[in-house]
Amino acid sequence: MNLRNEVLSDSPAASGSRQSRLRDKVAVITGAASGIGKEIALMFAQEGAKVVIADLDPKAAHETAGAIDPTGQRSLGVAMDVSDEEQVEAGMRQVIEVFGRLDILVSNAGVQIVAPIVEFDFAKWKKLLAIHLDGAFLTTRAALRQMYQQKTGSIIYMGSVHSKEASPLKAPYVTAKHGLVGLAKVVAKEGAAYGVRANVICPGFVRTPLVEKQIPEQARELGISEAEVVKNVMLKETVDGEFTTVQDVAETAVFLAAFPSNALTGQTVVVSHGWFMQ
Ligand code: NAD
Repeated sequence: MNLRNEVLSDSPAASGSRQSRLRDKVAVITGAASGIGKEIALMFAQEGAKVVIADLDPKAAHETAGAIDPTGQRSLGVAMDVSDEEQVEAGMRQVIEVFGRLDILVSNAGVQIVAPIVEFDFAKWKKLLAIHLDGAFLTTRAALRQMYQQKTGSIIYMGSVHSKEASPLKAPYVTAKHGLVGLAKVVAKEGAAYGVRANVICPGFVRTPLVEKQIPEQARELGISEAEVVKNVMLKETVDGEFTTVQDVAETAVFLAAFPSNALTGQTVVVSHGWFMQ
C-alpha cells in the first residue's frame, strides 16, 4: 500500500467527507517528510491545497511530494535546512516560482535532544535552538514578504505542551517551544494589518520517529523501563492515558489555516488529551 492510500484509507477523505476548506491555497510545511508534518501535508492536500514538503531530507521530501501528487502539479518537494538562511531563501523563492503565491506556512521542523542541563553539550543546545527558533524566524520572514504583498496568510507554529510547561532533561526544547509562542504573538500583532494570522499548536506526545527515539533515551536517563516512560512520563497527565495522533494535530492545523478572519490569532491550541488545561 502506498503512502497516499495508507493515509486516505482511514481518513474522512476516503469516505468523501472532506470539504475542500483549503481549495487552491499554497502551503509550505517544514519537516513534512515525516511524522506530524507529513500528515499535515497529506490532509492539506485532501482539503484542496497545493503543498510544499520542505525538509532536511531531500529524498524523503521528494517521495512524500510524489506520493501526494505524482503529476507534481499540486505538490513540491524542497530540500531545506530551516536553520540555514540561504537554503530557506532559495526554497521560498522556488515556491513562488512554481506556485506563484503562498497562503499558509506551517513551521513544524524539529528535533529532540535530552540530557540534564549540567551535562548539556553547548553545540547540541545551539543546534536545537537553531532548528526550532532560527528556523521559525527565517521561514516566517520569507513567508511574510509574500503574504504582505497578497494581504492574506496564516502561519502555524508547531509548539508542544512544552510551550506551556517544563519537563526535566529538555532544557533547549522547552525553551524553544516557549519561544515560539512569543514569536507567534509578535507576528499576530505585526501581521494583522496585512491580513496575516499566526497561531501555535501544542500537541501532547505523538508516536512519531521523534518520540520513538526519545523513549529509550529517557528510560536510560531516568533509570526506568520504556513502558514506565510511556505510562508515567508521557501519558501521566492526560485524562485518558492516550497518545495524541498525527491526525488530531493535522485536523487542528486545517482548522487554523482555514479560519476566515483575524478573530483567531496570537493563540495557542493545546491538543493533548487534556494534558495542560488552560
Ligand atoms: P519527526 O522526527 O517525525 O519529523 C521531523 C521532521 O523534521 C523530519 O522529517 C526531519 O527530517 C525534519 N527536520 C529535522 N531537522 C530539520 C531541519 N533543520 N530543516 C528541515 N527539516 C528538518 O518528528 P515529529 O514528531 O513529527 O515532530 C514535528 C514537530 O512536532 C517538531 O517541531 C516537534 O517538536 C513537534 N512536536 C512533536 C511531538 C511528538 O510527540 N511527536 C509533540 C509536540 C510537538
